[in-house]
Amino acid sequence: MPGSTSDRAERADGRSRTAGDVACLAVVGAGPAGLAAAVTAADHGLDVVLLDAAASPGGQYYRSPPEELAAVLPRAAVPPRAAPKGQRVFSGLMDRLAAHRAAGGIRYLPGHHVWTVTRTGSGWTLHTVVGARGEGGPAVRARRLLLATGAYERQLPFPGWTTPGVVGAAGAQAMLKSGHALPGRRVVVAGSGPLLQAVAVSLVRAGARVPALVEAAGYGGYAAAPRVLAANPSKPAEGLRHGAALVRAGVRVMSHRAVTAVHGTDRVEAVTVSRLDRDWRPVPDSGRTITCDALAVGHGLTPQLELAVEIGCATRTCADGSLAVRLDERLSTTVPGVWAAGEPGGIGGVGLALTEGELAAHAIAADVQGRSPRETSGRVRSLGRARRGQRAFAELMAEVHRPGHGWRDWVEDDTEVCRCEEVTAGRIRTAVGELGAADARTVKLLTRAGMGWCQGRTCGFAVRALAVSAGAAARDPAPDRRMPACPVLLSALAGADGADGMEPLDVDESPDTGRGGTRS
Ligand SMILES: Cc1cc2nc3c(=O)[nH]c(=O)nc-3n(C[C@H](O)[C@H](O)[C@H](O)COP(=O)(O)OP(=O)(O)OC[C@H]3O[C@@H](n4cnc5c(N)ncnc54)[C@H](O)[C@@H]3O)c2cc1C
Repeated sequence: MPGSTSDRAERADGRSRTAGDVACLAVVGAGPAGLAAAVTAADHGLDVVLLDAAASPGGQYYRSPPEELAAVLPRAAVPPRAAPKGQRVFSGLMDRLAAHRAAGGIRYLPGHHVWTVTRTGSGWTLHTVVGARGEGGPAVRARRLLLATGAYERQLPFPGWTTPGVVGAAGAQAMLKSGHALPGRRVVVAGSGPLLQAVAVSLVRAGARVPALVEAAGYGGYAAAPRVLAANPSKPAEGLRHGAALVRAGVRVMSHRAVTAVHGTDRVEAVTVSRLDRDWRPVPDSGRTITCDALAVGHGLTPQLELAVEIGCATRTCADGSLAVRLDERLSTTVPGVWAAGEPGGIGGVGLALTEGELAAHAIAADVQGRSPRETSGRVRSLGRARRGQRAFAELMAEVHRPGHGWRDWVEDDTEVCRCEEVTAGRIRTAVGELGAADARTVKLLTRAGMGWCQGRTCGFAVRALAVSAGAAARDPAPDRRMPACPVLLSALAGADGADGMEPLDVDESPDTGRGGTRS
Protein backbone atom coordinates (compact mmCIF):
# COMPACT_ATOMS: atom_id res chain seq x y z
CA MET A 1 0.00 0.00 0.00
CA PRO A 2 1.33 3.45 -0.81
CA GLY A 3 2.33 6.09 1.74
CA SER A 4 1.48 9.80 1.56
CA THR A 5 2.57 11.80 -1.48
CA SER A 6 5.55 13.27 0.32
CA ASP A 7 6.53 9.86 1.68
CA ARG A 8 6.30 8.35 -1.78
CA ALA A 9 8.23 11.23 -3.28
CA GLU A 10 10.96 10.77 -0.71
CA ARG A 11 11.12 7.05 -1.49
CA ALA A 12 10.91 7.51 -5.24
CA ASP A 13 13.79 9.92 -5.72
CA GLY A 14 15.90 7.51 -3.71
CA ARG A 15 17.94 10.25 -2.10
CA SER A 16 20.05 9.12 0.77
CA ARG A 17 18.61 10.22 4.05
CA THR A 18 20.72 12.39 6.29
CA ALA A 19 19.99 13.73 9.76
CA GLY A 20 18.29 16.69 8.06
CA ASP A 21 15.60 14.58 6.34
CA VAL A 22 12.14 14.35 7.83
CA ALA A 23 10.97 10.74 8.04
CA CYS A 24 7.30 9.85 7.90
CA LEU A 25 7.59 7.87 11.15
CA ALA A 26 10.18 7.57 13.92
CA VAL A 27 9.98 4.45 16.08
CA VAL A 28 11.85 4.56 19.41
CA GLY A 29 12.77 1.05 20.56
CA ALA A 30 13.63 -2.02 18.49
CA GLY A 31 12.16 -4.57 20.90
CA PRO A 32 9.28 -6.83 19.79
CA ALA A 33 6.80 -3.91 19.68
CA GLY A 34 9.06 -1.46 17.83
CA LEU A 35 10.31 -4.08 15.35
CA ALA A 36 6.79 -5.26 14.50
CA ALA A 37 5.70 -1.64 14.08
CA ALA A 38 8.65 -0.59 11.92
CA VAL A 39 8.43 -3.46 9.43
CA THR A 40 4.62 -3.24 9.17
CA ALA A 41 4.77 0.51 8.59
CA ALA A 42 7.43 -0.03 5.93
CA ASP A 43 5.23 -2.73 4.33
CA HIS A 44 2.65 0.05 3.97
CA GLY A 45 5.21 2.17 2.12
CA LEU A 46 6.00 4.54 4.99
CA ASP A 47 9.54 5.77 5.35
CA VAL A 48 10.65 4.80 8.83
CA VAL A 49 13.56 5.60 11.09
CA LEU A 50 14.02 3.04 13.87
CA LEU A 51 16.20 4.07 16.82
CA ASP A 52 17.36 1.88 19.68
CA ALA A 53 19.74 2.41 22.57
CA ALA A 54 20.97 -1.19 22.28
CA ALA A 55 23.60 -2.38 19.82
CA SER A 56 21.35 -4.98 18.21
CA PRO A 57 17.60 -5.34 17.67
CA GLY A 58 15.34 -7.53 19.82
CA GLY A 59 14.79 -5.61 23.05
CA GLN A 60 14.62 -7.52 26.33
CA TYR A 61 12.93 -10.68 25.15
CA TYR A 62 15.11 -11.36 22.09
CA ARG A 63 18.28 -10.12 23.75
CA SER A 64 21.49 -11.88 22.68
CA PRO A 65 25.23 -11.56 23.33
CA PRO A 66 27.10 -8.93 21.30
CA GLU A 67 28.61 -10.47 18.17
CA GLU A 68 32.19 -10.31 19.46
CA LEU A 69 31.24 -12.16 22.66
CA ALA A 70 28.98 -14.70 20.92
CA ALA A 71 31.93 -15.50 18.66
CA VAL A 72 34.13 -16.57 21.58
CA LEU A 73 31.50 -18.28 23.75
CA PRO A 74 31.16 -22.04 23.26
CA ARG A 75 28.03 -22.61 21.13
CA ALA A 76 26.28 -24.57 23.85
CA ALA A 77 26.88 -21.74 26.29
CA VAL A 78 24.80 -19.21 24.36
CA PRO A 79 21.23 -19.58 25.60
CA PRO A 80 18.49 -19.40 22.95
CA ARG A 81 16.85 -16.00 22.63
CA ALA A 82 13.42 -17.56 22.90
CA ALA A 83 11.48 -20.81 22.56
CA PRO A 84 11.52 -22.21 18.98
CA LYS A 85 8.23 -20.53 17.99
CA GLY A 86 9.43 -17.20 19.37
CA GLN A 87 12.71 -17.69 17.56
CA ARG A 88 10.87 -18.16 14.25
CA VAL A 89 8.86 -14.97 14.85
CA PHE A 90 12.05 -13.06 15.57
CA SER A 91 13.83 -14.45 12.48
CA GLY A 92 10.85 -13.36 10.38
CA LEU A 93 11.02 -9.83 11.79
CA MET A 94 14.78 -9.68 11.20
CA ASP A 95 14.37 -10.82 7.58
CA ARG A 96 11.76 -8.14 6.96
CA LEU A 97 13.95 -5.53 8.66
CA ALA A 98 16.90 -6.50 6.45
CA ALA A 99 14.76 -6.35 3.29
CA HIS A 100 13.34 -2.92 4.15
CA ARG A 101 16.77 -1.57 5.05
CA ALA A 102 18.15 -2.77 1.74
CA ALA A 103 15.23 -1.16 -0.12
CA GLY A 104 15.64 2.12 1.81
CA GLY A 105 12.29 1.90 3.59
CA ILE A 106 13.77 1.67 7.09
CA ARG A 107 16.77 3.53 8.43
CA TYR A 108 17.88 1.63 11.52
CA LEU A 109 20.03 3.46 14.09
CA PRO A 110 21.32 1.03 16.75
CA GLY A 111 23.21 2.44 19.73
CA HIS A 112 21.24 5.70 19.58
CA HIS A 113 19.64 6.61 22.90
CA VAL A 114 16.90 9.22 22.51
CA TRP A 115 17.32 11.54 25.47
CA THR A 116 14.59 14.00 24.60
CA VAL A 117 11.93 14.66 21.98
CA THR A 118 10.87 18.17 21.03
CA ARG A 119 8.11 19.43 18.81
CA THR A 120 9.37 20.93 15.56
CA GLY A 121 6.60 22.51 13.52
CA SER A 122 3.97 19.81 13.08
CA GLY A 123 6.45 16.99 13.69
CA TRP A 124 9.10 15.87 16.16
CA THR A 125 12.84 16.10 16.63
CA LEU A 126 14.48 13.22 18.48
CA HIS A 127 17.76 14.12 20.15
CA THR A 128 20.17 11.24 20.61
CA VAL A 129 23.36 10.32 22.42
CA VAL A 130 25.68 7.60 21.15
CA GLY A 131 28.63 5.60 22.47
CA ALA A 132 29.62 4.52 25.95
CA ARG A 133 30.23 8.09 27.15
CA GLY A 134 26.97 9.44 25.78
CA GLU A 135 28.39 11.79 23.15
CA GLY A 136 25.92 13.96 21.25
CA GLY A 137 24.42 12.00 18.34
CA PRO A 138 22.31 13.09 15.37
CA ALA A 139 18.96 14.80 15.78
CA VAL A 140 16.35 12.85 13.82
CA ARG A 141 13.21 14.49 12.49
CA ALA A 142 9.90 12.78 11.77
CA ARG A 143 6.31 13.73 11.21
CA ARG A 144 4.95 10.98 13.45
CA LEU A 145 6.31 9.23 16.51
CA LEU A 146 5.81 5.75 17.93
CA LEU A 147 7.15 5.04 21.42
CA ALA A 148 8.05 1.38 22.06
CA THR A 149 10.46 1.94 24.93
CA GLY A 150 9.72 -1.15 27.04
CA ALA A 151 9.89 -1.39 30.83
CA TYR A 152 12.07 -1.33 33.94
CA GLU A 153 12.21 -3.87 36.71
CA ARG A 154 10.41 -2.86 39.91
CA GLN A 155 12.27 -3.25 43.18
CA LEU A 156 10.94 -3.17 46.74
CA PRO A 157 13.71 -2.56 49.28
CA PHE A 158 14.40 -4.84 52.26
CA PRO A 159 17.30 -5.23 54.71
CA GLY A 160 20.42 -6.32 52.85
CA TRP A 161 19.20 -5.72 49.29
CA THR A 162 22.35 -3.70 48.53
CA THR A 163 24.67 -6.59 49.47
CA PRO A 164 26.94 -7.79 46.63
CA GLY A 165 25.33 -10.86 45.09
CA VAL A 166 21.81 -9.41 45.14
CA VAL A 167 20.74 -8.73 41.54
CA GLY A 168 17.48 -7.91 39.83
CA ALA A 169 15.59 -11.00 38.65
CA ALA A 170 15.04 -9.55 35.16
CA GLY A 171 18.61 -8.26 35.36
CA ALA A 172 19.84 -11.83 35.99
CA GLN A 173 17.93 -12.91 32.88
CA ALA A 174 19.52 -10.09 30.90
CA MET A 175 23.01 -11.10 32.17
CA LEU A 176 22.38 -14.67 31.09
CA LYS A 177 21.10 -13.75 27.65
CA SER A 178 23.69 -11.12 26.84
CA GLY A 179 26.80 -12.69 28.35
CA HIS A 180 25.91 -16.12 29.75
CA ALA A 181 27.04 -14.82 33.12
CA LEU A 182 25.51 -16.33 36.26
CA PRO A 183 24.99 -14.16 39.36
CA GLY A 184 26.14 -17.07 41.54
CA ARG A 185 26.23 -20.85 41.78
CA ARG A 186 23.36 -21.25 44.24
CA VAL A 187 20.75 -18.61 43.51
CA VAL A 188 17.47 -17.93 45.32
CA VAL A 189 14.91 -16.32 42.98
CA ALA A 190 12.38 -14.09 44.75
CA GLY A 191 9.85 -11.33 44.32
CA SER A 192 6.61 -11.50 42.44
CA GLY A 193 5.26 -12.13 38.94
CA PRO A 194 5.48 -14.76 36.23
CA LEU A 195 8.90 -13.57 35.02
CA LEU A 196 10.39 -15.22 38.14
CA GLN A 197 9.53 -18.66 36.77
CA ALA A 198 11.25 -17.90 33.46
CA VAL A 199 14.30 -16.59 35.32
CA ALA A 200 14.52 -19.67 37.57
CA VAL A 201 14.23 -22.02 34.57
CA SER A 202 16.95 -20.11 32.70
CA LEU A 203 19.28 -20.18 35.71
CA VAL A 204 18.83 -23.93 36.12
CA ARG A 205 19.43 -24.53 32.40
CA ALA A 206 22.57 -22.43 32.58
CA GLY A 207 23.94 -24.63 35.38
CA ALA A 208 23.02 -22.79 38.59
CA ARG A 209 21.35 -24.47 41.55
CA VAL A 210 18.12 -22.75 42.52
CA PRO A 211 17.10 -23.92 46.00
CA ALA A 212 13.87 -21.89 46.03
CA LEU A 213 11.58 -19.66 44.02
CA VAL A 214 9.93 -17.32 46.54
CA GLU A 215 6.71 -15.66 45.30
CA ALA A 216 5.09 -12.99 47.48
CA ALA A 217 1.63 -13.42 45.95
CA GLY A 218 -0.10 -16.73 45.21
CA TYR A 219 -0.95 -18.29 41.87
CA GLY A 220 -4.54 -19.01 42.97
CA GLY A 221 -5.63 -15.50 41.96
CA TYR A 222 -5.54 -16.52 38.31
CA ALA A 223 -8.26 -19.11 38.89
CA ALA A 224 -10.67 -16.28 39.73
CA ALA A 225 -10.77 -15.28 36.04
CA PRO A 226 -11.35 -18.49 34.03
CA ARG A 227 -12.64 -16.61 30.98
CA VAL A 228 -9.50 -14.51 30.75
CA LEU A 229 -7.40 -17.68 31.03
CA ALA A 230 -9.51 -19.41 28.37
CA ALA A 231 -8.92 -16.47 26.02
CA ASN A 232 -5.14 -16.74 26.57
CA PRO A 233 -4.48 -20.50 26.63
CA SER A 234 -0.76 -20.08 25.96
CA LYS A 235 -0.27 -18.32 29.30
CA PRO A 236 -1.45 -21.09 31.69
CA ALA A 237 0.28 -23.61 29.41
CA GLU A 238 3.55 -21.70 29.76
CA GLY A 239 3.09 -21.51 33.55
CA LEU A 240 2.55 -25.28 33.72
CA ARG A 241 5.58 -25.93 31.50
CA HIS A 242 7.77 -23.78 33.69
CA GLY A 243 6.30 -25.33 36.86
CA ALA A 244 7.11 -28.83 35.59
CA ALA A 245 10.67 -27.80 34.67
CA LEU A 246 11.17 -26.38 38.17
CA VAL A 247 9.86 -29.55 39.82
CA ARG A 248 12.23 -31.64 37.66
CA ALA A 249 15.14 -29.44 38.71
CA GLY A 250 14.25 -29.75 42.39
CA VAL A 251 13.39 -26.05 42.79
CA ARG A 252 11.08 -25.51 45.75
CA VAL A 253 8.31 -23.07 44.79
CA MET A 254 7.17 -21.13 47.88
CA SER A 255 4.20 -18.77 47.49
CA HIS A 256 2.94 -16.10 49.94
CA ARG A 257 6.52 -15.66 51.11
CA ALA A 258 9.25 -13.05 50.70
CA VAL A 259 12.92 -12.57 51.34
CA THR A 260 12.95 -10.18 54.30
CA ALA A 261 16.68 -10.17 55.08
CA VAL A 262 20.01 -10.96 53.43
CA HIS A 263 22.93 -12.34 55.44
CA GLY A 264 26.60 -11.81 54.62
CA THR A 265 28.76 -8.69 54.56
CA ASP A 266 31.09 -8.88 51.56
CA ARG A 267 28.75 -11.19 49.69
CA VAL A 268 25.38 -12.92 50.08
CA GLU A 269 25.70 -16.04 52.25
CA ALA A 270 22.05 -16.73 53.03
CA VAL A 271 18.60 -15.13 53.01
CA THR A 272 15.69 -15.13 55.44
CA VAL A 273 12.39 -16.11 53.87
CA SER A 274 9.26 -15.13 55.84
CA ARG A 275 5.66 -16.17 55.41
CA LEU A 276 3.35 -13.26 54.51
CA ASP A 277 -0.20 -12.52 55.50
CA ARG A 278 -2.78 -11.43 52.91
CA ASP A 279 -1.41 -7.89 53.04
CA TRP A 280 2.20 -9.07 52.58
CA ARG A 281 3.06 -8.42 56.26
CA PRO A 282 5.67 -10.90 57.55
CA VAL A 283 4.11 -13.41 59.95
CA PRO A 284 6.10 -13.20 63.24
CA ASP A 285 8.57 -16.06 63.84
CA SER A 286 7.92 -17.54 60.40
CA GLY A 287 11.42 -16.73 59.05
CA ARG A 288 13.69 -19.53 57.88
CA THR A 289 17.16 -19.30 56.46
CA ILE A 290 18.17 -20.57 53.04
CA THR A 291 21.85 -20.79 52.18
CA CYS A 292 22.80 -19.28 48.84
CA ASP A 293 25.51 -17.15 47.24
CA ALA A 294 23.20 -14.93 45.19
CA LEU A 295 19.67 -13.61 45.22
CA ALA A 296 17.79 -12.64 42.05
CA VAL A 297 14.90 -10.49 43.18
CA GLY A 298 12.28 -8.33 41.46
CA HIS A 299 8.64 -7.39 41.76
CA GLY A 300 7.59 -7.35 38.15
CA LEU A 301 8.11 -4.60 35.64
CA THR A 302 6.95 -1.05 35.33
CA PRO A 303 6.52 0.88 32.05
CA GLN A 304 9.35 3.13 30.85
CA LEU A 305 7.59 6.44 30.37
CA GLU A 306 10.12 9.28 30.35
CA LEU A 307 9.71 10.31 26.71
CA ALA A 308 5.93 9.85 26.75
CA VAL A 309 5.45 11.90 29.90
CA GLU A 310 7.86 14.56 28.73
CA ILE A 311 5.86 15.28 25.59
CA GLY A 312 2.60 15.36 27.54
CA CYS A 313 1.00 11.94 26.97
CA ALA A 314 -1.67 11.25 29.59
CA THR A 315 -1.21 8.22 31.82
CA ARG A 316 -3.46 5.68 33.54
CA THR A 317 -2.94 3.67 36.71
CA CYS A 318 -2.67 -0.09 36.15
CA ALA A 319 -4.05 -2.70 38.57
CA ASP A 320 -0.64 -3.02 40.27
CA GLY A 321 -0.29 0.73 40.88
CA SER A 322 2.14 1.32 37.99
CA LEU A 323 1.54 4.19 35.61
CA ALA A 324 1.20 3.43 31.90
CA VAL A 325 0.55 5.55 28.82
CA ARG A 326 -3.18 6.00 28.19
CA LEU A 327 -4.00 4.58 24.74
CA ASP A 328 -7.08 4.20 22.63
CA GLU A 329 -7.92 1.11 20.55
CA ARG A 330 -5.68 2.37 17.76
CA LEU A 331 -2.72 2.83 20.09
CA SER A 332 -2.91 6.63 19.84
CA THR A 333 -1.74 8.54 22.88
CA THR A 334 -3.51 11.72 23.92
CA VAL A 335 -0.89 13.76 22.00
CA PRO A 336 -1.73 14.03 18.29
CA GLY A 337 0.91 12.41 16.09
CA VAL A 338 2.19 10.13 18.87
CA TRP A 339 1.43 6.42 19.27
CA ALA A 340 2.80 3.88 21.77
CA ALA A 341 3.01 0.08 21.71
CA GLY A 342 4.18 -2.70 24.01
CA GLU A 343 5.17 -2.22 27.64
CA PRO A 344 4.77 1.61 27.82
CA GLY A 345 1.01 0.95 27.62
CA GLY A 346 1.17 -1.55 30.51
CA ILE A 347 3.17 -4.71 31.18
CA GLY A 348 1.86 -7.61 29.12
CA GLY A 349 4.67 -9.70 27.64
CA VAL A 350 6.12 -10.34 24.23
CA GLY A 351 2.89 -11.52 22.53
CA LEU A 352 1.05 -8.33 23.39
CA ALA A 353 4.05 -6.23 22.35
CA LEU A 354 4.08 -7.86 18.90
CA THR A 355 0.31 -7.42 18.49
CA GLU A 356 0.38 -3.78 19.53
CA GLY A 357 3.37 -2.92 17.38
CA GLU A 358 1.67 -4.25 14.27
CA LEU A 359 -1.68 -2.71 15.18
CA ALA A 360 -0.12 0.71 15.79
CA ALA A 361 1.62 0.58 12.40
CA HIS A 362 -1.68 -0.15 10.61
CA ALA A 363 -3.27 2.79 12.46
CA ILE A 364 -0.40 5.11 11.54
CA ALA A 365 -0.57 4.01 7.88
CA ALA A 366 -4.31 4.80 7.89
CA ASP A 367 -3.51 8.22 9.32
CA VAL A 368 -0.87 8.86 6.64
CA GLN A 369 -3.23 7.75 3.90
CA GLY A 370 -6.12 9.78 5.31
CA ARG A 371 -8.34 6.74 5.78
CA SER A 372 -11.14 6.84 8.32
CA PRO A 373 -10.53 4.79 11.50
CA ARG A 374 -13.72 2.88 10.61
CA GLU A 375 -12.16 1.46 7.43
CA THR A 376 -10.46 -1.51 9.01
CA SER A 377 -9.24 -4.70 7.39
CA GLY A 378 -9.89 -8.20 8.67
CA ARG A 379 -6.28 -8.33 9.87
CA VAL A 380 -6.73 -5.16 11.93
CA ARG A 381 -9.95 -6.46 13.45
CA SER A 382 -8.34 -9.73 14.44
CA LEU A 383 -5.32 -7.91 15.91
CA GLY A 384 -7.73 -5.71 17.87
CA ARG A 385 -9.51 -8.78 19.28
CA ALA A 386 -6.20 -10.39 20.18
CA ARG A 387 -5.08 -7.21 21.87
CA ARG A 388 -8.22 -6.99 24.00
CA GLY A 389 -7.73 -10.58 25.18
CA GLN A 390 -4.01 -10.07 25.89
CA ARG A 391 -4.64 -6.79 27.72
CA ALA A 392 -7.27 -8.51 29.89
CA PHE A 393 -4.63 -11.08 30.87
CA ALA A 394 -2.12 -8.30 31.55
CA GLU A 395 -4.55 -6.59 33.94
CA LEU A 396 -5.24 -9.92 35.66
CA MET A 397 -1.51 -10.50 36.08
CA ALA A 398 -1.05 -6.99 37.51
CA GLU A 399 -3.93 -7.57 39.94
CA VAL A 400 -2.70 -11.00 41.11
CA HIS A 401 0.85 -9.76 41.78
CA ARG A 402 0.00 -6.26 43.04
CA PRO A 403 2.29 -5.49 45.99
CA GLY A 404 0.38 -5.71 49.29
CA HIS A 405 0.76 -2.68 51.58
CA GLY A 406 2.46 -4.79 54.24
CA TRP A 407 5.75 -4.98 52.29
CA ARG A 408 6.66 -1.73 54.06
CA ASP A 409 7.00 -3.76 57.27
CA TRP A 410 10.01 -5.56 55.71
CA VAL A 411 11.85 -2.25 55.65
CA GLU A 412 13.85 -1.20 58.73
CA ASP A 413 14.87 2.39 59.53
CA ASP A 414 18.45 1.80 58.39
CA THR A 415 17.41 0.09 55.13
CA GLU A 416 18.69 2.09 52.18
CA VAL A 417 15.80 2.93 49.86
CA CYS A 418 17.37 5.35 47.37
CA ARG A 419 20.68 3.73 46.46
CA CYS A 420 22.02 6.59 44.34
CA GLU A 421 21.70 9.18 47.13
CA GLU A 422 21.98 6.66 50.01
CA VAL A 423 18.69 7.71 51.63
CA THR A 424 17.37 5.34 54.29
CA ALA A 425 13.78 4.52 55.18
CA GLY A 426 14.40 6.24 58.55
CA ARG A 427 15.19 9.54 56.81
CA ILE A 428 12.02 9.29 54.74
CA ARG A 429 9.96 8.60 57.87
CA THR A 430 11.66 11.52 59.69
CA ALA A 431 10.95 13.85 56.78
CA VAL A 432 7.23 13.12 57.18
CA GLY A 433 6.94 12.61 60.95
CA GLU A 434 9.32 15.31 62.25
CA LEU A 435 9.97 17.74 59.40
CA GLY A 436 6.36 17.95 58.25
CA ALA A 437 6.64 16.77 54.62
CA ALA A 438 3.02 16.49 53.49
CA ASP A 439 3.62 14.59 50.25
CA ALA A 440 6.15 12.41 48.49
CA ARG A 441 7.46 15.32 46.45
CA THR A 442 8.42 17.27 49.60
CA VAL A 443 10.05 14.11 50.98
CA LYS A 444 12.15 14.01 47.83
CA LEU A 445 13.17 17.66 48.23
CA LEU A 446 14.07 17.19 51.92
CA THR A 447 16.00 13.92 51.55
CA ARG A 448 17.24 13.90 47.92
CA ALA A 449 15.59 10.47 47.48
CA GLY A 450 15.17 9.92 43.75
CA MET A 451 17.45 12.78 42.74
CA GLY A 452 20.51 10.72 41.86
CA TRP A 453 21.79 9.01 38.73
CA CYS A 454 18.68 6.89 38.13
CA GLN A 455 16.31 9.81 38.84
CA GLY A 456 14.02 7.67 40.97
CA ARG A 457 13.48 4.93 38.41
CA THR A 458 14.53 2.28 40.93
CA CYS A 459 13.29 3.82 44.18
CA GLY A 460 10.41 6.13 43.15
CA PHE A 461 7.65 3.61 43.87
CA ALA A 462 9.12 2.67 47.28
CA VAL A 463 9.82 6.26 48.36
CA ARG A 464 6.23 7.27 47.61
CA ALA A 465 4.79 4.22 49.40
CA LEU A 466 6.97 4.72 52.49
CA ALA A 467 6.15 8.43 52.63
CA VAL A 468 2.43 7.67 52.46
CA SER A 469 2.66 5.00 55.17
CA ALA A 470 4.51 7.50 57.39
CA GLY A 471 1.57 9.92 57.04
CA ALA A 472 2.12 11.86 53.80
CA ALA A 473 -0.89 12.47 51.58
CA ALA A 474 -1.71 9.61 49.23
CA ARG A 475 -2.17 11.78 46.17
CA ASP A 476 -2.55 10.30 42.72
CA PRO A 477 0.98 9.64 41.55
CA ALA A 478 1.51 12.31 38.89
CA PRO A 479 4.54 11.16 36.93
CA ASP A 480 7.59 13.38 37.18
CA ARG A 481 8.65 15.00 33.94
CA ARG A 482 12.08 13.54 33.61
CA MET A 483 14.02 15.12 30.81
CA PRO A 484 16.60 13.86 29.92
CA ALA A 485 15.62 10.20 29.52
CA CYS A 486 19.26 9.17 30.15
CA PRO A 487 22.40 10.90 31.45
CA VAL A 488 23.69 13.43 28.90
CA LEU A 489 27.02 15.25 28.67
CA LEU A 490 26.78 19.04 28.86
CA SER A 491 28.40 19.18 25.43
CA ALA A 492 25.55 17.10 23.98
CA LEU A 493 23.00 19.37 25.66
CA ALA A 494 24.69 22.48 24.31
CA GLY A 495 25.00 20.98 20.83
CA ALA A 496 21.34 20.02 20.71
CA ASP A 497 20.19 23.44 21.77
CA GLY A 498 22.23 25.33 19.22
CA ALA A 499 21.76 22.95 16.32
CA ASP A 500 18.03 22.53 16.34
CA GLY A 501 16.49 25.46 18.11
CA MET A 502 14.65 23.24 20.60
CA GLU A 503 11.23 24.64 21.27
CA PRO A 504 10.22 24.86 24.93
CA LEU A 505 7.69 22.30 26.07
CA ASP A 506 4.24 23.48 26.92
CA VAL A 507 4.05 22.65 30.64
CA ASP A 508 0.60 21.90 32.03
CA GLU A 509 0.46 21.42 35.80
CA SER A 510 -2.67 19.27 35.76
CA PRO A 511 -1.71 15.90 37.35
CA ASP A 512 -4.06 13.65 35.45
CA THR A 513 -2.70 14.66 32.08
CA GLY A 514 0.65 13.28 33.14
CA ARG A 515 2.20 16.66 32.55
CA GLY A 516 2.25 18.05 36.08
CA GLY A 517 5.25 18.93 38.20
CA THR A 518 8.60 20.44 37.51
CA ARG A 519 11.92 18.77 37.44
CA SER A 520 14.02 18.59 40.52
C1 LIG B 1 15.63 -6.71 32.10
C2 LIG B 1 14.42 -7.39 31.51
C3 LIG B 1 14.48 -8.75 31.16
C4 LIG B 1 13.36 -9.38 30.61
N1 LIG B 1 13.45 -10.71 30.30
C5 LIG B 1 12.34 -11.35 29.82
C6 LIG B 1 12.37 -12.76 29.54
O1 LIG B 1 13.40 -13.40 29.65
N2 LIG B 1 11.22 -13.36 29.14
C7 LIG B 1 10.05 -12.67 28.98
O2 LIG B 1 9.04 -13.25 28.62
N3 LIG B 1 10.01 -11.34 29.21
C8 LIG B 1 11.11 -10.67 29.63
N4 LIG B 1 11.05 -9.33 29.92
C9 LIG B 1 9.80 -8.64 29.59
C10 LIG B 1 9.93 -8.01 28.21
O3 LIG B 1 10.21 -6.65 28.45
C11 LIG B 1 8.69 -8.04 27.33
O4 LIG B 1 8.03 -9.24 27.30
C12 LIG B 1 8.94 -7.64 25.87
O5 LIG B 1 10.29 -7.64 25.53
C13 LIG B 1 8.33 -6.29 25.66
O6 LIG B 1 8.62 -5.81 24.38
P1 LIG B 1 8.72 -4.24 24.13
O7 LIG B 1 9.04 -4.09 22.70
O8 LIG B 1 7.51 -3.57 24.68
O9 LIG B 1 9.93 -3.73 25.04
P2 LIG B 1 11.47 -4.14 25.09
O10 LIG B 1 11.71 -5.51 24.63
O11 LIG B 1 11.92 -3.78 26.47
O12 LIG B 1 12.15 -3.14 24.04
C14 LIG B 1 12.28 -1.77 24.31
C15 LIG B 1 13.45 -1.25 23.51
O13 LIG B 1 13.45 0.18 23.60
C16 LIG B 1 14.77 0.63 23.71
N5 LIG B 1 14.70 1.95 24.35
C17 LIG B 1 14.12 2.29 25.52
N6 LIG B 1 14.23 3.61 25.75
C18 LIG B 1 14.91 4.12 24.69
C19 LIG B 1 15.33 5.44 24.35
N7 LIG B 1 15.05 6.49 25.13
N8 LIG B 1 16.05 5.61 23.20
C20 LIG B 1 16.32 4.54 22.39
N9 LIG B 1 15.93 3.27 22.66
C21 LIG B 1 15.23 3.08 23.80
C22 LIG B 1 15.49 -0.43 24.50
O14 LIG B 1 16.88 -0.43 24.22
C23 LIG B 1 14.79 -1.71 24.02
O15 LIG B 1 15.51 -2.33 22.99
C24 LIG B 1 12.16 -8.68 30.44
C25 LIG B 1 12.09 -7.32 30.81
C26 LIG B 1 13.21 -6.68 31.34
C27 LIG B 1 13.10 -5.22 31.74
